[in-house]
Amino acid sequence: MIREICQAGKLVLRQPARALTPEEILSAPIQELIASMFETMRAAPGVGLAAPQIGMPLQLAVIEDPREFIQKLPPHQVAERLRAPVAPHVIINPQLTVEDPTAAAFFEGCLSLTGFTAIVPRALAVRVECLNERAEPVSIQARGWYARILQHEIDHLHGTLYIDRMLSRSFMGRENFERHWKDVPVAEARRLIGDV
Ligand code: ZN
Repeated sequence: MIREICQAGKLVLRQPARALTPEEILSAPIQELIASMFETMRAAPGVGLAAPQIGMPLQLAVIEDPREFIQKLPPHQVAERLRAPVAPHVIINPQLTVEDPTAAAFFEGCLSLTGFTAIVPRALAVRVECLNERAEPVSIQARGWYARILQHEIDHLHGTLYIDRMLSRSFMGRENFERHWKDVPVAEARRLIGDV
């Protein structure tokens, strides 16, 4: 079932989500929630969706960056973003550790801030310890775009949105981004908007 995605202004997006017990993870309601989150993310479409975004204050997110999305991007953008396909998976009760704090700054968006985008600096590499949908412990190491997706989704589980971390002068509507900025190198965009 496709769920409605909450937009900024819903309190649930600003509240910390609670952890799930292994018993809850294996329960039918949570298994159904996971299935509906994948369906909702793919319909949007997006590369990640956290439970608070569909009104559930639970430490659960689904992630998938399909090859078809990446093939539509110019090769130089794929290369500079270190973007590679990520198979569908679930993160539950994640603990994030920054492995390489070097800031990678790129435009990103959020399904809860429809129609907007901004440059957001994120750590280049992270490690995430979490449970999967079978309540098994998993350790994930990620660099580049996948590390960005993980940081973005885990932020949702703490009531944080990208607008809390963005370079505020870069905040803009998607239409203007598509029209004027999508092919501008980020360093040049930052210079033009007076960020650096
Ligand atoms: Zn988001």
